[in-house]
Amino acid sequence: MFSLASSDSKDEKIDYADRAYRSMKRWRIVKIVVFLLAIFFFLSHYFLYWDPGEGCFIGIKPAFLEFTNLDMKRALRALKQGSPEDYKMVCGNVGVINPFIACGGFGGGCYYEGQPKTSSNREIYVSTAKDDLVMAMAVIVHETCHAIQAKEGRPLNEEECYQVDDKLLRKVVTFQE
Ligand SMILES: [Zn+2]
Repeated sequence: MFSLASSDSKDEKIDYADRAYRSMKRWRIVKIVVFLLAIFFFLSHYFLYWDPGEGCFIGIKPAFLEFTNLDMKRALRALKQGSPEDYKMVCGNVGVINPFIACGGFGGGCYYEGQPKTSSNREIYVSTAKDDLVMAMAVIVHETCHAIQAKEGRPLNEEECYQVDDKLLRKVVTFQE
């Protein structure tokens, strides 16, 4: 134990060593918390679209071929601006966007039937090229349309869903002008 040279009062017993130990421990906890927060922010930045105001939470799976995760988020934000009704439709019916190439091939999308009924688990594939936001938006609404068909127990109908993305594309183009 050490004490300050000037103070020799016996009744003040402050264990400086213990205090230093405790502050070291506290500092270690702070570092762990900061580290965990950094991981959380990293993961949520790339893998989570979060719009609490609209109650919209969509997970985005890792994109292996092109790093399009952030494009998916940008496309969702653009959709919110350009076509709020379509945005709400996506938020209410899709839980996960998977940017991996699936049955739609590259630059397309895909919806697999036989998925859980809850929207938080429903997954759509959107494998659009990097920086092609308009295409990503179109594919997102197209696959959401299939998700809704599946939810309502209807057969997947292409015509209906092409109409949905066609309508969106027209709207977005006018919106950008
Ligand atoms: Zn389709």
